[in-house]
Parts: sequence; C-alpha cells; structure tokens
Amino acid sequence: SYQKVLEENQKLYNQVQDLKGNIRVYCRVRPFLPGQPNSLSTVDHLDDGNITITTPSKYGKEGKKSFTFNKVFGPSGTQEEVFADTQPLIRSVLDGYNVCIFAYGQTGSGKTHTMIGPSDLTKETLGVNYRALNDLFNISEQRKDVISYDISKGFNVPDANLVPVTSTSDVLNLMNLGHKNRAVSATALNDRSSRSHSCLTVHVQGKNMTSGTILRGSMHLVDLAGSERVDKSEVLGDRLKEATHINKSLSALGDVIASLAQKNSHVPYRNSKLTQLLQDSLGGQAKTLMFVHISPELNAVGETLSTLKFAERVSTVELGSARANKEGSDVKELREQISSLKAALARKE
Ligand code: ADP
Ligand code: MG
Repeated sequence: SYQKVLEENQKLYNQVQDLKGNIRVYCRVRPFLPGQPNSLSTVDHLDDGNITITTPSKYGKEGKKSFTFNKVFGPSGTQEEVFADTQPLIRSVLDGYNVCIFAYGQTGSGKTHTMIGPSDLTKETLGVNYRALNDLFNISEQRKDVISYDISKGFNVPDANLVPVTSTSDVLNLMNLGHKNRAVSATALNDRSSRSHSCLTVHVQGKNMTSGTILRGSMHLVDLAGSERVDKSEVLGDRLKEATHINKSLSALGDVIASLAQKNSHVPYRNSKLTQLLQDSLGGQAKTLMFVHISPELNAVGETLSTLKFAERVSTVELGSARANKEGSDVKELREQISSLKAALARKE
C-alpha cells in the first residue's frame, strides 16, 4: 500500500539524514527542585519530540510557543533514559567518527546534571560522561583499541594535558583534578554555577574489525558556561570580566551556528577558543549532539524562550558537507518520492 511505501521511504530518508549528520538536539526539562512545591511550570505540553512553552502575561507577551527537537526529555526523564538515546552516537567514536556532545542552557537548568550528575552521585544518577567512558572502555577492551584523553579548563589553557588511560577510573581521577581546577564562583543565580566551560576530550584509536585499517575517532564532552545574560548574575570586578569573556565565546558559538545554518562560505571559527576547539565537530565530518536544558520556573521563561530559539537554529545546521554533497541527489529523490506519495495518499482520502 501507499502508506507502507511511504513509511519505508520515510525511514530511509531518516537514515540518510542521520548519515548526513544534522546537529541533533535533545531538549531536557529540569524538574522543580525540592522546596518548590506546587509550582507552576512554563511547560504547557511535551511529548517525545515537541515542547510548548506558555508565557503568562506577568512575564512578557502572553502566549504559547512550540518547538520540535530530535528528542524531548520531561522532568521525570532519567539519566539512564538520556544515555540510552546517546549511546549509539558515542559508539561511533570507535568507528572513527568525531563526536561532540555539548550541554547548553542557563545556569541551574541541569547542564552539569546531564553531563556529570548531581553532587551526591549514585550509580543511578551517573551522567553522560561516566556512562560514555565506561561504554567505550568496555567495548574497546574487547576490541583492543587504544584510548587517550585530555582535559581542558575554560579553553584558556594553551596546552591541555594528554594522558594515556586504560580504565574509567584513570579518567575519573584525572577529571576530579580538572574539576577542582575549574573556576567556580558563587553567583546570584546558583552557588554551583560555573562561569567557565569545561571540556573532556577522548581520543580513540581503533581498528576496523574486517579490513584491519586504523581508525581514529574523538569525543568532546562539553559542559558550557551558563547562557544567561550577564547582568542577571550580579557579578562584579574580575568575575564580571570573566563572565563577559565567557559570554563572548558563547556569542561566537552563536555566530558560527548562524553562519552554518545560513550555509555561508565563511564561518567565523577563529573568533574564540571555544569555536576553534569545536571546529572539527561543528563543520567537519562530525556527529554532534546538543543537549539544551531549560528550567521550568515561570520567572525563567525569558531565558527559556531564547534558549529554545537558539536550539531551534542549531538543529537546522547540516554537518559534513562533503558527504552531504555526495548524498544530496539521493536525499532529493527521496524527498520528492515522499511528497508525491503523500499527495497520492491525500487524493485517496
Ligand atoms: P547547571 O549545570 O546548568 O548550572 P545543574 O546541573 O547544577 O545546573 O542543576 C541545578 C540543580 O538542579 C542541581 O542541584 C541538580 O542536581 C538539579 N537538577 C538538574 N537537572 C535535574 C534532573 N533532571 N533531575 C533532578 N535534578 C536535577
Ligand atoms: Mg553546571
């Protein structure tokens, strides 16, 4: 039947899209925290791929706005569920891909929770980076791949340390070091807030199991600084300077995303350390995933909407233009088939 062919075409189309590598965007909504009982949420509706935000008139222009992402995790989404949808991407590091996962959102929205976990870590609440490393080590142990690792703090460090590691615990020890060194200062928004980016990079040298060729993959896990406007944090002096600097790198990231989305021939990667570091992950043959985090509180609705608008733009960015070119005609053909099948179905109804 038409319906069946359409479904198969759609599946194939999604697979090709997947290969072509648009930046994937997963949205995660933080639950209300203990001590905020019976609070009203800005989230009006959410399902697997859609989210609708309500703005009450008190907090701006009253209305609803909907967004679509590859995935939406509601407040009850668990760390395990989040990782289950991230794992295939992480495994492709072993097939020689550059994978980049970054966490975006205002301070307190749950970036560190997703990437590392809460401060009172348990086995259940382990974040993406622990789970990812464990997974890579488990598979590479079977395949005898070689893994090395480096950590960079705030991207101001000229040379990140590059250390060969053989187990997850090696990496965790190093990460604790990096974490302690990380510039963390209390701000008005959240005392665990950080005004710096934090990045964990893992290099993997693997072997293609059938051909024996050496594959080199890498994984960046980036916990970005809070995306909120600086004035809200009421930071002063050196802190303000630091915050301005961080915001500059986030706006440089925004500029890069914008020019990639518009398919500009010049992409301003060189405007910040952050975008230089992510150049291969944003423009090259990479697989990139952005976790966009939002807080449910009504008074955060302004930041929430600007975060989601940014995320929407990110999701339009196509990666790996060389491959996209090669596959361009297939995609076009499939798209045409899908629309004519849809039209045929509509005529039948
Ligand atoms: P950010 O890194 O974006 O500033 P955090 O990850 O520190 O935010 O989150 C702020 C607080 O909310 C922390 O106490 C964190 O444990 C909690 N939190 C965030 N996301 C979740 C979640 N999905 N489930 C439970 N608690 C969460
Ligand atoms: Mg954080």
